[in-house]
Amino acid sequence: MTPLLGLDPAGLDRFFVDLGEKPFRARQVSRWLHQRFADDPAAMTDLARATRERLSGAVSIAAPPVIRDTTAADGTRKWLFDVGAGNAVESVYIPEGVRVGSPEDDEAFESAAASDTSARRSRSAGPSPNASVRYRGTLCISSQAGCALDCAFCSTGRQGFNRNLTTAEIVGQLWHANRTLLADGIQAPWVEQGRAPITNVVMMGMGEPLANYDNVVPALRLFLDDNAYGLSRRRVTLSTSGLVPMIDRLAADVPVALAVSLHAADDALRDRLVPINRRHPLKELLAACLRYLPHAPRDFVTFEYVMLDGVNDRPEDARKLVAIAREVPSKLNLIPFNPFPGAEFRVSPRERIRAFQQTLMDAGVTTTIRKTRGDDIDAACGQLAGQVQDRIKRRLATRIAAAPAQ
Ligand code: SAH
Ligand code: SF4
Repeated sequence: MTPLLGLDPAGLDRFFVDLGEKPFRARQVSRWLHQRFADDPAAMTDLARATRERLSGAVSIAAPPVIRDTTAADGTRKWLFDVGAGNAVESVYIPEGVRVGSPEDDEAFESAAASDTSARRSRSAGPSPNASVRYRGTLCISSQAGCALDCAFCSTGRQGFNRNLTTAEIVGQLWHANRTLLADGIQAPWVEQGRAPITNVVMMGMGEPLANYDNVVPALRLFLDDNAYGLSRRRVTLSTSGLVPMIDRLAADVPVALAVSLHAADDALRDRLVPINRRHPLKELLAACLRYLPHAPRDFVTFEYVMLDGVNDRPEDARKLVAIAREVPSKLNLIPFNPFPGAEFRVSPRERIRAFQQTLMDAGVTTTIRKTRGDDIDAACGQLAGQVQDRIKRRLATRIAAAPAQ
């Protein structure tokens, strides 16, 4: 059975030509799959009955099975998917409204959470009373079960690498979120305007997307394709820890908005926090960002910077960051560290994060602080794996215990 959600537009064309069908059938079926979220060829009523029957015997249309589906008090919703062999990955849906013209209003949600603008607000006249709000529904998607890159502060990294997700498993997360939210009767302003529940995608879940390039690129093509999800390139953001050669390939193949996990402003510290830096040091990484920019949908790169108490939150770190931001047109997104069991770091105190932001803003660097969403369901960045893995192990143990003796 061919998993249809895993075929990018060119792949779907070839699939239908091989079936002896006209290529326009591929576009028709793509709309059924990715816009109406059909899971059964029998429902594709504008196809000839014979075609539908042939499809039914030849394809599968499914997201990975859902193990758990949790909604937080703030509306954030998290799905835990079973990807086999005791592995699970997560997707997080974040509904939000942003003020038009605020630093967050760039039409491409850069983070797995909303950002806080109060520091900027205190320096200006405050929000205009009639400022309108732009609403969006963001899905944070996983690209791998586990991750081999072993960043010191990341629970996915701690888990080690299990395997790459297939294109169908990556696209399946978006397909499932849209389909489920619609089936549940989602009430959101953008859905009332006829758009799909998910308006923005961020590749910021589990795994390093550029380490699973061959499966991630077809997924990105589907996110952008007009006969599939039809998202603009600025509404699709890929976050990488800095696989330099792959950043260049992405620029050539499918240049979506780019977020780079910086986390340190010099090589000595970054070598420790983000070990891939030993292979591709800062100078190389920043040069790759500059090469990417002419292809990017926006005129800046987003730098993510996790705030670790006493580690990377000193005034000198802020000053070095200013120098980096002068070199590479960028926006900085400070992420308060999200703790997980066994983590060796603490989050920087709130006041220090604010002061750090202020130093950067005073130097003219647009800097936002990521607001943690879905706290009560462990949906925050870097928390998506540790507890999951434990639960899966426990689940499997229960299953084994419950299995009848052979
Ligand atoms: N592998 C990619 C994308 C997934 S991680 C990358 O590293 O960019 C998405 C973001 O969450 C990255 O910036 C990552 O560094 C950050 N992150 C990881 N663990 C975290 C934690 N415990 N607290 C806060 N942010 C974390
Ligand atoms: Fe992998 Fe990103 Fe976690 Fe680093 S931060 S271990 S690259 S998922």
